[in-house]
Amino acid sequence: MEMNFDPFVLPFFLGLLVMGVILIWKYIVWLETIPVSDRRVMFRNIFTVRSLRAFKEAIMEGLLHRRIFKINPLLGYMHASLATGWFLLIVMGSIESKFGQKDVFNMPWDPIFFNFFEPVKHGIEYGKFFVFMMDFLLLVVLLSVTFAIIKRFYSRLFGMKKTTKLMIADQFALYSLWMIFPARLFAESLNAAHYSNGGFMTQPIGNFFNSFMSAGQVINAEYTMWWVYSIMLAAFFVAMPFSRYMHILTEIFLIAFRHLGIKSANNLQGYTRFEINACSRCGICIDKCQLSSAAGISNVQPAYFIQGIRYNLPFEDRAYNCLMCGRCNTYCPVKIDVTNIRTITRKLANETVSFRYDYLPEIKKDELAEVTNVVYFAGCMSHLTPSIPQAMISIFNEAGITFDFVDKDGSICCGRPLMQSGLTDAAADLREKTSQMIRSKNSMILVTSCPICYKTFKDDFNLKMHVVHHTELIKILIESKRIKLRKEDLSIVYHDPCELGRGCGEYDNARMVLKQIGNVVSIDQEKEKALCCGGSISNLKVSYDKRELMAADAVKQLSANNPDVIVTACPLCKKTMSKHADGKMKDIAEVIAESLGAGKQIDSQKEEVLFLSVK
Ligand code: SF4
Ligand code: SF4
Repeated sequence: MEMNFDPFVLPFFLGLLVMGVILIWKYIVWLETIPVSDRRVMFRNIFTVRSLRAFKEAIMEGLLHRRIFKINPLLGYMHASLATGWFLLIVMGSIESKFGQKDVFNMPWDPIFFNFFEPVKHGIEYGKFFVFMMDFLLLVVLLSVTFAIIKRFYSRLFGMKKTTKLMIADQFALYSLWMIFPARLFAESLNAAHYSNGGFMTQPIGNFFNSFMSAGQVINAEYTMWWVYSIMLAAFFVAMPFSRYMHILTEIFLIAFRHLGIKSANNLQGYTRFEINACSRCGICIDKCQLSSAAGISNVQPAYFIQGIRYNLPFEDRAYNCLMCGRCNTYCPVKIDVTNIRTITRKLANETVSFRYDYLPEIKKDELAEVTNVVYFAGCMSHLTPSIPQAMISIFNEAGITFDFVDKDGSICCGRPLMQSGLTDAAADLREKTSQMIRSKNSMILVTSCPICYKTFKDDFNLKMHVVHHTELIKILIESKRIKLRKEDLSIVYHDPCELGRGCGEYDNARMVLKQIGNVVSIDQEKEKALCCGGSISNLKVSYDKRELMAADAVKQLSANNPDVIVTACPLCKKTMSKHADGKMKDIAEVIAESLGAGKQIDSQKEEVLFLSVK
């Protein structure tokens, strides 16, 4: 059997081999660290429609980069044309070499260097079609490489203020990637100069070479360019598993895992390891993070935080300097749950720290209270904005609801600050005590004014009660006509708190409520894209001044249409943004209490200033 071979294929082939072995080894190690129970779930789902959905998403995101396209069309085009163009070049080359080969089996290098081995196309069916398509796809890829080079040096042309800094492996892979396709263009064009077999792009370039080079020079130059092409491919393949380009294949695994039922992990192994390696360091999360856009801190965002974990760099500052607002999760085209990964790393950093909460009194059965309508849990932050619990009391009274104000003296906590600091055991202790206290009130409904508490009660407690945020309760009271509101000619902008919106997916209750008292004006940064107020309790690293910059910027964007009032549904958001809002910032409970038929005016601005941050 005759085999196409020339020594220049060796760098390509060996590079491919090295990459294949490293990738297989890495993936096996990571797969082994996925818990057996998760693997069982995955295997159970593998022969179901879920696999088809995974396949579809792999095409839409892995090749066409739909999510990046939606966020930034130019960037999306660049990624999509490189990935899809290169993929189709390989597919088309494989089909062409199948048509053109006499042998049953192609060697791995046949589709890659096909024109070198089979320069005369007369024997190949559809030869002209392949010649055209290969030129066309090469042109598409070359354009995307040109875009990539421009973006690296003038990222603002792509609407990006920052691009990520490269590690050595990234640089090696990136520069070889940039060289691969120009090398191929020259090799193919010189081949066209040699055999007159080129397409609409390679033949004119080949003719140009012929115009000033002798036949011998063309042959020598062509052979040299095949070597260069092969070496550049090898360089990229060898660097790829250690560079950000590891994301190319890893993202496909991640998509498959999600569709097959694995969605998160509580350590840095298994699923999380795939997430970490699926980050393409596209940099989208940098500009979308307010620490960068408003406070000028541009080295802690997921691109760098994940890079730190992957390359074992010191990442404590990156792990803790984050508001945990989740905006980056919303915008990440790979859908990496970076907030979860930060919580894991914070937990690891605190493994040796222990807190005890067993001094808190046990609540015994015989202390159970009479059945009340609702238990009201204001939350620590609401106690720092007392006008909010005061408004809720007005609403309860107006609606004729009996309630038990369980944290009236402010003595209990949902445990979320401990959780987000990575002190998960201490948080569990505290949750148990808080649960006992809430259960002792013998009610079926728990109402809270704080979205942070709300999310924690829903996700981390096992209260066997209906937990609602006060926005939902107010909506229910309006629908059941237990409260009546005055509608006024009021323009209202609603600020979605991170934990209520992105955290719990609740966007509509508040808007429905506010429509009863005024006109809700839509803004650009709302719902999933809502800004963080900057006051997050999850970040004790960022300075007070930087927080103020973020709060001021958020208020500026919320005030763009000069609304009469900016309403939020979170005591922390209200507290943080109030001082920049000229008295326009209110909690939804406050505006509803003011709008009650018999409601009294709540003085929402008389509060002490809260200093959350380390100066
Ligand atoms: S975390 Fe997501 S958005 Fe950020 S660089 Fe990685 S892939 Fe891009
Ligand atoms: S969670 Fe918020 S603060 Fe943290 S990196 Fe993401 S966008 Fe920035």
